[in-house]
Amino acid sequence: MGQVLDGKTVAQAVKDEVAAAVAGLAYRPGLATVLVGDDPASHSYVRGKRRDAAEVGIESIHHEIDASVGQDELIALVKSLNADDSVDGILLQLPLPGDLDGEATVEAIDPAKDVDGLHPFSLGKLMLGRPGLRPCTPSGVLRILDHYGIETAGARAVIVGRSFLVGRPLAMMLSERGADSTVSVAHSRTEDLPAVTRAADILVAAAGSPGLIGANHVRPGATVIDVGVNRTEDGLVGDVDFDAVVDIAGAITPVPGGVGPMTRAMLLSNTLRAAEARRAAP
Ligand code: NAP
Repeated sequence: MGQVLDGKTVAQAVKDEVAAAVAGLAYRPGLATVLVGDDPASHSYVRGKRRDAAEVGIESIHHEIDASVGQDELIALVKSLNADDSVDGILLQLPLPGDLDGEATVEAIDPAKDVDGLHPFSLGKLMLGRPGLRPCTPSGVLRILDHYGIETAGARAVIVGRSFLVGRPLAMMLSERGADSTVSVAHSRTEDLPAVTRAADILVAAAGSPGLIGANHVRPGATVIDVGVNRTEDGLVGDVDFDAVVDIAGAITPVPGGVGPMTRAMLLSNTLRAAEARRAAP
C-alpha cells in the first residue's frame, strides 16, 4: 500500500512555523477577508480562513457585503484596504455572485497584498521566475512533496487540469529552477489520458471530475496528489479513485485531509510574507 501523505500534519507544521514567526514580530499582520453574498460554501471557507488566522496570531479584518453591492463600490472597498496600513493581505472570496466581475476586482488589489497570488502581476512574476506571492493551492502541493522528501528534480510530472487557479501555476512552479521537474499538462482535449498520466513520477489531478484517475492511469510507485474537491451524494470526494489507486501508488494524498488543509495553511504563510516584505519596505 502506498504511503498516505497527510495534509493535516503538514498544514499544522506550516501553521506552527507561521505562529512562531508572528510571535517574534513587533506588530500583528492583518488579513482582510472580503465576502460578498450569502453562498453557504463561501461563508464556510471564509470562516475557516479567519479561524486559521486567529490560531497563528494574524488579525483578521472581515468585510461581509450584500450581493446587491455595485462593482464600483466593491472596487472602492478594495482600494480602501489597499490604503489601510493595518492590512497586509487581502483575500477576496471567489466566485462573486451575480454580475460582479471577479477578475476586475482581483486586479484592483495591491499586488503587495495579493496573498492569494492570483493577481496578473503575481502570475506574471511566476512566469518570469521572479520571487513573489505564489497561488496557495500549488504552493501547498509543493510543500507536501517537500515535507515527505519526494524528489521533484528530474521527475516527470503530469498535471491534469490547466486552470489559472491550480494547473497552470503549478506547472510553472514544478518546472521552475529549484523544483526542476519535467512537466506535462493534460486537459479535457488530451487524447489517451491514461497513457499520458502513466508516464508520471508525480501525478497531480486537478480536474474537478470525481474518480477520473483510476488504476490504469497510474504507474506503480508514482506519487499521486489529488487536488479535486467534488461534492457528491457520497460526500466529499477527489478526482482520484483512492481505493483503486492506493495499492499502486508509492504515495497518495487523501480527500479530505490532503491538499485542502494545505491551501489554507499557505494563505497564512503568504500573509506573513506579505507583511514582512511590506513593512520592511522603506
Ligand atoms: P476548473 O477551472 O474547472 O479546471 C478544470 C481543469 O480540468 C480544466 O483545465 C479542464 O480541461 C480539466 N478537465 C476537466 N475534466 C477533465 C477530464 N475528464 N479529463 C482531463 N481534463 C479534464 O477547476 P479548478 O478551479 O482548477 O479546480 C479543479 C479541482 O480542484 C476542483 O475539484 C476544485 O474544487 C479543486 N480545488 C481544490 C482546492 C483545494 O484546496 N483542495 C483548491 C482549488 C481547487 P479544459 O481546460 O479543457 O476544460
